[in-house]
Amino acid sequence: MSAVNTVLVVGGGTAGAAAAILLADAGVSVELAEIKPDVTALGSGITLQGNAVRVLRELGVLEECRAEGWEAEGLVLRAPFDPEAKVVAFLPNHRSGGPDLPSSMGMYRPALARILVGRAERAGVKLRFSTTIQELEQDDDGVDVRFTDGSTGRYDLVIGADGVRSWTRRMLQIPLETRSVGMGIWRVFAPRPAEVENSEFFYGGPCYIAGYTPTGQDSLYAVLVEDAQDRTTLGPEEKVALVRQLSEAYHGPWDEIRESITDPETIHYTWFEEHLLDEPWHRGRVVLIGDAVHTCPPTLAQGGAQALEDASVLAEMLIGADTLDDELLTAFTTRRHDRVQAVVDASLQLARWQLAHEQGDVPALMGRIAALTSQPA
Ligand SMILES: Cc1cc2nc3c(=O)[nH]c(=O)nc-3n(C[C@H](O)[C@H](O)[C@H](O)COP(=O)(O)OP(=O)(O)OC[C@H]3O[C@@H](n4cnc5c(N)ncnc54)[C@H](O)[C@@H]3O)c2cc1C
Repeated sequence: MSAVNTVLVVGGGTAGAAAAILLADAGVSVELAEIKPDVTALGSGITLQGNAVRVLRELGVLEECRAEGWEAEGLVLRAPFDPEAKVVAFLPNHRSGGPDLPSSMGMYRPALARILVGRAERAGVKLRFSTTIQELEQDDDGVDVRFTDGSTGRYDLVIGADGVRSWTRRMLQIPLETRSVGMGIWRVFAPRPAEVENSEFFYGGPCYIAGYTPTGQDSLYAVLVEDAQDRTTLGPEEKVALVRQLSEAYHGPWDEIRESITDPETIHYTWFEEHLLDEPWHRGRVVLIGDAVHTCPPTLAQGGAQALEDASVLAEMLIGADTLDDELLTAFTTRRHDRVQAVVDASLQLARWQLAHEQGDVPALMGRIAALTSQPA
């Protein structure tokens, strides 16, 4: 039983690959159109919280991810400026995926992307790289698509999983303003000092946050969060110099990490942004998931987790129904919207407290989100 026989997924990131895998496993004929020429993802790291890990298990990729990633038990807080980088707290991670799953995993993004797309291929998903949709026309029974390579197709459903600046969303003429939060983040992929076994963060000093998270036996990604500013004019060597300079107030493992930062190719800068689309997340037979409908600062590291949950819930609802209709897709958004909103609001609240140099009741907020994300999506 399934409400759909043929599905086109637009975008082969976390959300799109996950939805494609689950539907193909259920016998649905799935095509995935990815605008980039191959499996790529920004060369940095990602933290997968327990509720993301739960979906990775559902996708059948958990063991592969465990083999490549790094399981962390908690968050170490250290003091800025202190030459010894004194540990001021250790906060154990909440096992939001369940007691039998890692509470949190760090991974190299390209490794996660490769694992997901490889699994999609094995599930029988037809992967179409360097392609996107040019025209969408739908009637009561299906969606006609013309692709940029000139080919055409007709599908029961189109899933737009093409990220923050979703082209599918714009083709549906859905207005959604993506706003800057006021912070910018430097991310650096670097070797892991042996002593770093968990995420470690320094709050305060010249950056709002300075920290690092292991992504594997030999690697980690380091982050430095500053006021959002135009960094596009910096040359490669200037980026290296700036990142090293910004990290100088932080010691302990930062001293070794800083020395290893020499290659500008390992450094990325981006602003924190936010948007959340009102209900519903579909128009006719085209539905949007992941960053295409919600994005927030990664202060709780939940964006990817929510994208994976979207894919899991949508696939479950499509597979469990006989008919695709407005009611089914409306029920999908209803099931997702409030949970996503709680995560977006909490992530924004944390960013705002940091911007205002306000203490805020961080433990209560984090406890609330941990309790929420521990519930099934
Ligand atoms: C600085 C930063 C740090 C973050 N850290 C974390 C973290 O630690 N943990 C976490 O869970 N989340 C984190 N996130 C959020 C997370 O990265 C996103 O929520 C997640 O990647 C969303 O997945 P997605 O599949 O919806 O979108 P994306 O991952 O953006 O994937 C979209 C895909 O669509 C493709 N595409 C784009 N346009 C088209 C088109 N027209 N046609 C076809 N394909 C197209 C893209 O090439 C891409 O492959 C972070 C975000 C930022 C900005």
